[in-house]
Amino acid sequence: MCEHPEGMGTVQEVRIAKRTGFCYGVREAIDKAKESAAAGNLTHTLGQVVHNEGVVRELTQLGVRSVESLDDVDHGAAVVIRAHGVKPEVMQRAEARGLEVIDGTCTWVIQEQRQLQELVDEGYTIVLLGTPKHPEVVGLLGFAPDAIVVDDEADWDRIPRRKRMALITQSTQPPWKFEKLAAFMVNRAHELKILNTVCPVTIRRQEDTLETAQAVDLMVVVGGRHSANTKELTRLCEIAGTRAIQIENAKDLTDPAPFDAVVAVGVTGGTSTPIEDLRDVAERIYLLAGTPAEQARASELARRALDAAATPAGRTTSLPERKVAAGAA
Ligand code: SF4
Repeated sequence: MCEHPEGMGTVQEVRIAKRTGFCYGVREAIDKAKESAAAGNLTHTLGQVVHNEGVVRELTQLGVRSVESLDDVDHGAAVVIRAHGVKPEVMQRAEARGLEVIDGTCTWVIQEQRQLQELVDEGYTIVLLGTPKHPEVVGLLGFAPDAIVVDDEADWDRIPRRKRMALITQSTQPPWKFEKLAAFMVNRAHELKILNTVCPVTIRRQEDTLETAQAVDLMVVVGGRHSANTKELTRLCEIAGTRAIQIENAKDLTDPAPFDAVVAVGVTGGTSTPIEDLRDVAERIYLLAGTPAEQARASELARRALDAAATPAGRTTSLPERKVAAGAA
């Protein structure tokens, strides 16, 4: 292991951004899977409920298995739909097969699906801002198969000119991109209906990440390598002028070089990253790059950083242990 020799680290403070941890949609879906397993049901999730090693391991230990298709669901098993939601056909097929469906679709996504359906019924040409193969977008397209999905600016020229157009977005798209696309579309339609479906959790998380980034020398962003909302947090930190490194978990932190001469480090995470992972990352930073005094108290300091972030208002974990500690913070 290539840690600093004792005494060489400079980090004195690790600050965890507020309102991080699971978003409520992800938390609810995980809780539903756990509750079903605890009630003694054979429980499957349709796709991994969250792309996080620790959570998947915990669910596996509880007997919850992830399946890629309804065809893989055992007879008599309960199937949990994850927060991203699915196409209506998937629900219909599950019902036709007589499976017990536990709908973990996030309430925000359910609202998006309804709004999209209304736009279809009203005859709008629909533009959906989103990442094309993202499960939430795939599910949304089940409600509006003809919607035009666009992502980066390079795609936008594909948007036609029509009399009546509507714009809607995947929940985790950056607000700035949505606003820019809305402005772009103003000249492309006689009537333009704009539904801002960027999730408030996404907006708050970006605000809190920015606030933290502005107060530290370096940011560590924790989340799935392919997670769009995690990548966006990294990009935001850099826009704020604060260097940022992105990792999946504490195990990825093996090189002290990025922490050279750094005194204060901020830690933030994507919507699928449990807040406990942020605590582990904070502890790892103290051990890897803290001053000798901080190295010696790494565990205690990391716990304090978590308690400072996990206020009741920002409580975002599904684990009962943290609910108690957050309430006491
Ligand atoms: S980011 Fe928002 S919309 Fe998406 S699952 Fe989480 S709470 Fe729901």
